Amino acid sequence: MPDKPEKPLEPATQDERDAPSETAASKYRRKQLERQLGPTQFIDEPPPLTHDTLWRGLARKGEARLLVVRATEAAQEAASRLNASGEVAKLVGELIVAALLVRSTLNPDARMQVYIRHDGPTGKMVADVWEGGGVRVYVKQPEATAELDGTLFGPGLMEVARTHAATGKSWRSTVQLQGDRIEDFMMHYLLESEQVLSLLRVEVEVANGVVTSALGYLVQLMPEGTHDDLKRMTQNLQTMTPLTEGMSHGDPDARAWAELLMDGFRWDQCGREMVEYECRCSEARILQMLSTLPPADLQEMASDTNDVEISCDFCRTKYLVKPSAIGELLEPPS
Ligand SMILES: [Zn+2]
Repeated sequence: MPDKPEKPLEPATQDERDAPSETAASKYRRKQLERQLGPTQFIDEPPPLTHDTLWRGLARKGEARLLVVRATEAAQEAASRLNASGEVAKLVGELIVAALLVRSTLNPDARMQVYIRHDGPTGKMVADVWEGGGVRVYVKQPEATAELDGTLFGPGLMEVARTHAATGKSWRSTVQLQGDRIEDFMMHYLLESEQVLSLLRVEVEVANGVVTSALGYLVQLMPEGTHDDLKRMTQNLQTMTPLTEGMSHGDPDARAWAELLMDGFRWDQCGREMVEYECRCSEARILQMLSTLPPADLQEMASDTNDVEISCDFCRTKYLVKPSAIGELLEPPS
């Protein structure tokens, strides 16, 4: 077989002609510099405006970060499961948005539970958020309204518990409720417990008792930040329009809005979660919960002729538990 004719050498690219003597090391440095000075990089295509999501951005020197969340569907679902009044539905949305943002900034691998215990008409409120964007909410008195009861919150405490998914290690910390709104409570928590300068904004709208929009953002200046960074961020925040005006079908991540908020910083998008209302309940978990009751109470339920109806505090799903299944809880483990 005759040899193929040798392929002619390809002409040099424009890059090679411009920098014929560039070594691998200097090319690497040039690329690094281009990346440091280049425009904001986004890692993925944003989901449409109808999907809940949370995304994170980080300044290239680690001096600042931004988190943006849309949790409208999750807030609607949580409030409707609880049969919440319009006013409590707004609080449910606010709690979901704030909890999602704080969990994702503190430790994206940890589950976080927020307990707000206070004397006001809503009673105890709990948000449970976990890795991957799952969220659920409990409110003791979801039917509460401010007209009937004055204000919705009374004096109290907020406890934040975080559990690392892989190791099971957990952290708890409690702060007094300071301010009037959930975003105030959370900012106070971040300053007291985490010592990070943070601005958290929650924007929840309710129409005819239904959550129509649940958005929020969290911007933080990290210890790497300088006095100038703080000044720049403060100036940027003064001119910001609400997030709801920055989010649109054409720009569901509010990227143009975020560029204004981070003006003067070089930064990139670095992560995303898909937010979803979910409940962690199951018949097995209900039985596990029952097993902590005093034996006398279990005995009474086990001797009942009817199934025992128990509903989940979070999603209100009803479970019918057979007395025989409760009887088995009384038997010593084999
Ligand atoms: Zn449930």
